Formats: sequence, C-alpha cells, structure tokens
Amino acid sequence: MISKRLTKQEAIKKKCLECSAGNKNEVANCEIKDCALWRYRNGYEEQDELYFKHMKKKGKK
Ligand code: SF4
Repeated sequence: MISKRLTKQEAIKKKCLECSAGNKNEVANCEIKDCALWRYRNGYEEQDELYFKHMKKKGKK
C-alpha cells in the first residue's frame, strides 16, 4: 500500500513506470493505445485527433 497521498498525475506516472519496469523511454514510446492511461502517460494530454475533436465539440478550438 502507498503511504503518501499522490496527485492524479503522480499516480499515472507511478503506474506507467511500474508497467514499464521503471524505463521512462518505454513509457514515452508506449504503443498500448487501448490503455486508459495512455493519453496522459507523458504528464500532459496527447494533443491528437481525438483531443482536437473533443475541444472543437466544447467550442474551445
Ligand atoms: S499507458 Fe502504457 S505504460 Fe502506461 S500503464 Fe498503460 S500500457 Fe502501461
């Protein structure tokens, strides 16, 4: 069990590093796009087609 409170981003980072045996390059180059964490794995949301579609729907771009 984790003994300190983590932010959402810290939790995602920790999980991705566990998944990739501690290798940051593996996380950055992860190709498992079906994973719920994939678009947030680099500390920000991937700005891909899905992102821009969402922003357009929200009237933000
Ligand atoms: S995004 Fe990739 S590295 Fe992160 S948990 Fe999912 S599969 Fe693992």
